[in-house]
Amino acid sequence: MSILKVARLGHPVLRQKCEAIKPEAIKGPEIQRLIRDMFETMAEYNGVGLAAPQVHQPVRLVIAGGDADEEGHPVYRVLINPEITVLSDDERLGMFEGCLSVPGLRGWVERPDAISVKAWNEKGQQIEFNLEGFAAVVMQHECDHLDGVLYVDRIEDMTRFAYDEEASRYLETAGEEEFEGEEE
Ligand code: ZN
Repeated sequence: MSILKVARLGHPVLRQKCEAIKPEAIKGPEIQRLIRDMFETMAEYNGVGLAAPQVHQPVRLVIAGGDADEEGHPVYRVLINPEITVLSDDERLGMFEGCLSVPGLRGWVERPDAISVKAWNEKGQQIEFNLEGFAAVVMQHECDHLDGVLYVDRIEDMTRFAYDEEASRYLETAGEEEFEGEEE
């Protein structure tokens, strides 16, 4: 396994529309190695999610966390060629998002609170499930990467875009969503 180099804001690979992965290639050695390396890279940088273009591979593959199983253990899903359907367009969830490709910064982004996801998993099976709350935000952030979209594109109020330290010092006010210390 290897820790991969993470592409940072400004690298063109982050602005590409990524290619779909052929379902028959999912169980092949290249994709399986990419998945293992992405897990290792994400753990190294304390990410809650990671998209393949962030490690210079412009293919439609993400790992997305932010969810827990019934016993409270964190769940990370591998999704290939994911498709998102928004379930609650009027209920939006705002939080300070961060990104391993935009290190040291945070920005306030609001997204739909509930989504449905259809994709292939790492075993080459088709899966479909619903997500809400933080896990739905992480999933949307990761899937945006596959279309060359970064969270910074979705910040509406640029006064709420800041370095980590300043964000936690000056931008938190009572009643807002808890500051998210994790990076996607
Ligand atoms: Zn990101």
